[in-house]
Amino acid sequence: MSHDARTTATPALRIIPREQHVISRKNISKAALRVLYRLNEAGYQAYLVGGAVRDLLLGGHPKDFDVATNATPDEVKKLFRNSRLIGRRFRLAHVVYGPEIIEVATFRGTGEEEGEGDRHIVDGRIVRDNVWGTIEEDAIRRDFRVNAMYYDISDFSVRDYVGGMQDVENRVLHLIGDPETRYREDPVRMLRAVRLAAKLGFRIDVAAAKPFDELGPLLADAAPARLFDESLKMFLAGHGLKSFHMLEQTGLLKFMFPATARALKRGDKALRSLIEQGLANTDARVAEGKSVTPAFLFAVLLWGEVRDLAHTWITKGQDANVAWERAATHVMAEQCQRVAIPRRFTLTMEEIWALQPRFELVQRKRVFRLMAHPRFRAAFDFLLLRAAESPAIRQLGEWWAHAQQLPHETLAAALSGGAVSVGGAPPNGAAESVAVPKPRKRRRRKPAGKSGSKSDQA
Ligand code: ATP
Ligand code: MG
Repeated sequence: MSHDARTTATPALRIIPREQHVISRKNISKAALRVLYRLNEAGYQAYLVGGAVRDLLLGGHPKDFDVATNATPDEVKKLFRNSRLIGRRFRLAHVVYGPEIIEVATFRGTGEEEGEGDRHIVDGRIVRDNVWGTIEEDAIRRDFRVNAMYYDISDFSVRDYVGGMQDVENRVLHLIGDPETRYREDPVRMLRAVRLAAKLGFRIDVAAAKPFDELGPLLADAAPARLFDESLKMFLAGHGLKSFHMLEQTGLLKFMFPATARALKRGDKALRSLIEQGLANTDARVAEGKSVTPAFLFAVLLWGEVRDLAHTWITKGQDANVAWERAATHVMAEQCQRVAIPRRFTLTMEEIWALQPRFELVQRKRVFRLMAHPRFRAAFDFLLLRAAESPAIRQLGEWWAHAQQLPHETLAAALSGGAVSVGGAPPNGAAESVAVPKPRKRRRRKPAGKSGSKSDQA
C-alpha cells in the first residue's frame, strides 16, 4: 500500500482508539486541554496535532502543544478573549495562558482547489499560504508522516492519515509525498529531517535523504533568521552533538556553517575536539536543566576559521590586534549571510575570540584586568575547550584555572616574583605544579617560564 498521500485523493485514514495508544490527558498541558474542550463545546473539531502527538506517542514530554481546528482564526479569536491573531504567511491564533501559548491553526488546504484564503507559489516555493482546507488536506501538507497525526479530544482517539503510527513504531522519518517536491517547496525540511532524526533517535528514510546532495544548495535561499531558529533547535535543545554529526554525515553542514565545514575538511582535529566537547557540554547542561547560551556555541563552531585567518595575517606581518579583529569580522560576515545570528550574540562571540590571545600574556596587570573582564568566564571556558590545540594551550588553561583559585595577594606576589610557582592543576594528573609563566611578548605561547625574574620586567 502506498502512503504517498499527495497522489491519493483521500488518504487512507486509520483511527486508533484510546485503548490502543499511550496518549493520556495527564500528559497534555492544562492550557491545551482547555483550548481543545472549548473549541469542541462550541461545535468545532479540535485536535492536538504535530510534534506534540508524536512526542506523546514516544513517551516524551512535548514542550509546546499545537491545536488544529476547522474554526477560522476569526472564530477562534471570538471564542477566546485571551487570544491574538498572528502570522503573515500563515494566519493563526495564539491563545495565552500565563506563560503558556497554545497555537491554534485552522486546517490548511493544499491549494489545489479553490478555497477560502489564498496561496502564492513562486518558483515552486510557498510564499503565502492561507487556504483553509479539510483535516485530510491539513495532514498531507505537513512534512513527515510522524508529524501528521491528530489526537481527537471528542473521543481521545488518534487519527492517522498517512501511516505516521507505523513510522513511530519503526522509528523512521518518511516525508509525505514526493521528497524532491517537498524539499523544493521548503528546503528547511531537509534540516528538520536531520534535527528530528537526532532528537528522536530515528533514521531518515532512504528516499527522504537521497535529495540532500542535489537540493542542499537551495538552503542558500532560506531566510537566515529561520536558519538561526532552526540551528538553536538543533544545537541547544539537548541533542546538539547528534545533530552536528548528522549534519556532517548528510553533507548539509556546509550550507549552514560553511566556515566550520571548511575547517573540519582541512582535518583540524583540535577543532573537531573543541566542537564535540562544546556540544557535549551543552547537551549535558540542557539535561541538567541549566541555562545555555547560543553565543558560546557559535563561537565554538566558527573558531577554527577565525584562528587560522588571524594566524595567517599575523604571519604576513599584520598587527595581531588588527588581524584578530579582521578575522572575526570576516568570518562573522560570511556566517550571517547563512544563519542570522543576532547582534547581541555576535558581540559576545567576538569578545570571546578577542580574549583568547590575551590569555597568553601572563603579566601582573594584564592578568587582573582579564579576570575582571565581563566575558572572562566564557572566554576561560573556551580556553579550556581548546586544550586539544596544543600542550601549551592545555597548560595555559590549567594555569588560569589555578590562578583563579588563589587569593589576590598570593597571585599578585607570584606574578611579581616571576619564577614563583603558584602550583597549577597538574598536567596529566601528576602531582607537580605549574610555574608562573614568564611574561612574554605578544604571540608567544609557552606558559612555563622557569627562571630569572629580572628579564621578566623588561
Ligand atoms: P519540535 O516542536 O519538537 O521541534 P515539531 O514537529 O513540533 O518539532 P514545529 O516546528 O513545532 O515542529 O512544527 C509543528 C508541526 O507543524 C510539525 O509537526 C509539522 O506537522 C508541521 N510543520 C512544521 N514545519 C513544517 C514544514 N516546514 N513543512 C510542513 N509542515 C511543517
Ligand atoms: Mg512543536
